[in-house]
Amino acid sequence: MLEPAPIWIDTHAHLNDGRFGDDLDAVIERALEAGVTRMICCGYDEASSDLALAIARRYPAVWASVGLHPHDAGDWTPTLAAHFDALLREARVNRIVAVGEVGMDFHYVSGEEVAARQELAFRAQIELAIRHDLPLIVHDRDAHLAVYDCLESYHSTGRLRPRAGVLHCYGGSADFYLQRAIHLGLDVGFDGPITYRNSRRAAEVIAQAPPERLHIETDCPWLPPEPHRGKRNEPGFLPYVAAAMARIRDVSPAELSRQLEANGLRLFWPEELGATD
Ligand SMILES: [Zn+2]
Repeated sequence: MLEPAPIWIDTHAHLNDGRFGDDLDAVIERALEAGVTRMICCGYDEASSDLALAIARRYPAVWASVGLHPHDAGDWTPTLAAHFDALLREARVNRIVAVGEVGMDFHYVSGEEVAARQELAFRAQIELAIRHDLPLIVHDRDAHLAVYDCLESYHSTGRLRPRAGVLHCYGGSADFYLQRAIHLGLDVGFDGPITYRNSRRAAEVIAQAPPERLHIETDCPWLPPEPHRGKRNEPGFLPYVAAAMARIRDVSPAELSRQLEANGLRLFWPEELGATD
C-alpha cells in the first residue's frame, strides 16, 4: 500500500532573520514542497517578534512566538513586557503559539551580573507564558542548572503547565539533564547537527528519550544539516534532520512523521486535538 508522503513541523525557524526577506516566498514554497507544512517563526527581541507576527499573518503555514533572547536580556524593560503582554492577550488572532525564545546562555558571557540579568528576563517571560497559558521555547546554552532551577521554582509550586514547552536545540546529556527536562514537562528539540558525523551525544539522547517528547527544528538560518553545511539553512532542509532522527530511532520516516506531528500538535496546537491540558 502506498504511504502518504511524510509531513514535518519546523518548531524553530527564524524566518524573521535578515538573511531572509527578498526570497521568503521561495523559501516557504520550497518548505511546502519538502513536506514542511507548519513552521514556528521564533522572535528573539522586540523587532523580530513583531516581524514574526507579520510573517505568520502572511503565510498560512507559519505561526509565531514572541520573546527576548538571553543574549539581549539587558533590553528587558517594563515597556517591552507590556508590549509582549498585549500581543499575547490576542495570541490566537496573532497566530502566536509560544513564548520564546527565552532562557539563559553562559557560552560567551558569564558572571553573577550576567546571570542575574538573564534570570530576571527569563522569569518575567515565564510569568507571561503562565498568564497566557502558552508553552515556552527555551534556549539553554551552557546554563543547564540555572535554567533548571528557574523552571523548577515554578514547577514545584504547580504554576507551570503540564506541557511546559520545549528545550530547543537540546544540548544536555542523556541521563541527568534529560530526566530533569522530562520532570519539568519539557520536550526536547533537535536540529541540523544531528546529521553531523560527530553528534554521538545527541544520538544517545534521541535514542533514549520518550518518543512523545521529540521535535525537529531547523533554527534557520543557523545550523544547516548535511549536505548543506556552510550554507544558509531553511525549513526546506528539515527532512535531512528527520532522516537522521529516523535512522537513530530505527523507525521509518512515515512513522516518525506521525509521531512528531502528534507531538507538535499536542504542544503548540492542542485545540486541534480537542485536548485541554
Ligand atoms: Zn533560535
